[in-house]
Amino acid sequence: RRNRKFGPLVGSIDEGTSSARFLVFAAETSELLTYHQIDVQQMCPREGWVEQDPLEILKAVKDCMEITVDNLHKLDIDPADIVAVGMTNQRETVVVWDKYTGEPLYNAIVWLDVRTASTVDEVLAGVQDHNQDCLKSLCGLPVSTYFSAVKVRWLIDNVSKVKQAFKDKRCCFGTIDTWLLWNLTGGKNGGLYITDVTNASRTMLMNIKSLQWDPVLCRFFGVPMDLLPEIRSSSEIYGYLMDGALQGVPISGCLGDQQSALVGQMCLRQGQAKNTYGTGCFLLYNTGQSVVQSNHGLLTTVAYKLGKSATAVYALEGSVAICGAAMKWLRDNLQILEDISDSDKIAQSDTDSSEVYFVPAFSGLYAPFWRKDARSVICGITEDTTSVAIVRAALEAVCFQTRDILDAMNKDCGIPLTKLLVDGGMTVNNYVMQLQADLCGIPFGH
Ligand code: ADP
Repeated sequence: RRNRKFGPLVGSIDEGTSSARFLVFAAETSELLTYHQIDVQQMCPREGWVEQDPLEILKAVKDCMEITVDNLHKLDIDPADIVAVGMTNQRETVVVWDKYTGEPLYNAIVWLDVRTASTVDEVLAGVQDHNQDCLKSLCGLPVSTYFSAVKVRWLIDNVSKVKQAFKDKRCCFGTIDTWLLWNLTGGKNGGLYITDVTNASRTMLMNIKSLQWDPVLCRFFGVPMDLLPEIRSSSEIYGYLMDGALQGVPISGCLGDQQSALVGQMCLRQGQAKNTYGTGCFLLYNTGQSVVQSNHGLLTTVAYKLGKSATAVYALEGSVAICGAAMKWLRDNLQILEDISDSDKIAQSDTDSSEVYFVPAFSGLYAPFWRKDARSVICGITEDTTSVAIVRAALEAVCFQTRDILDAMNKDCGIPLTKLLVDGGMTVNNYVMQLQADLCGIPFGH
């Protein structure tokens, strides 16, 4: 056997809401050897609409892989040492494409998009009391603009190309993992049409217990069950990379981004929890092999199923739509923040002590409120208020929202959390981390 400089290596595709990354780790030590990251554009063609170009996402992923392989060469590491590639991805975002041409039939509708507010009303019109929890026992989720099924329903109803492709049975539909796996394993020339249980658990179409597409759920949303990808475990050899510098390397893992953060933080025992501060903010609590239904507005989701015949492990999840996205809004729309990384210092400055509160409900409010009609407010502004107080309030909003989730989690679980592991782009912000610890009564440490 050949001598490998760092032992076997593992590659990781991370397709987030704001960027795509490819990272290479040494399998034995988990050391990160190199990575490359490319930002992905978000388009807002109308108020409340959030789209991305599926081809741009695919190109960003492929380019990240090629550039990372170049980095390996420069580091004098042989890319042939990469023995497997895994994938993690933004969840719920929907792509539809033509299985014969591989062409996307519409832009990806991103999880944050709220165009489906009226679709939610329509599907709930026939339900007693318009109860948004009517499907919770089947899929663990409330009917909301957030999940994939209503986005697919909207596409079938509103985009004639999609409607026709569904009729002709040439339409592929999937979350980002399905789109990428199909393309990376051959695309229209026999690419794999699959998803993993964690991503499928965010569609509202999978039965949370059987881990299969559920006929009742598919009928409820009018999504043809025979057109859906096959649901696989989160860890098995699905197939092999079809081209590029890593051609022939097996793809052997797939998890939605929040579930992969849970696994990455080693929250593999019941009662362990993590919170990820990215575009949105997502607290997941490992509930072991039990499907725990929340009475306080949390979601029940599959945490992972690590192997074809492994037992699935579940989680309770508190999802907050807007976290780091509010900082981008302050930078790009209000233009009161030149660089997001300045926000820590600004928040800690004592030049403005106005008591300003910011509820960043750009996409309605998710857990524990599930109010698609909610919109943002900034209150407490006086004539002395400056941008400092607005920036601080945006950061504080993240901590207050997380505390709401933690309160709900403690009520559902009965045992208050004493430890919360954190990750995501915003965790470099000390103001946020300290305030979070203070508000939750959990010490801040590493
Ligand atoms: P995602 O996986 O959703 O794309 P990331 O985990 O990459 O998100 O985190 C990116 C987010 O983190 C951005 O929305 C950005 O606003 C936020 N962020 C990055 N650095 C800071 C910082 N120093 N202070 C506050 N927020 C930050």
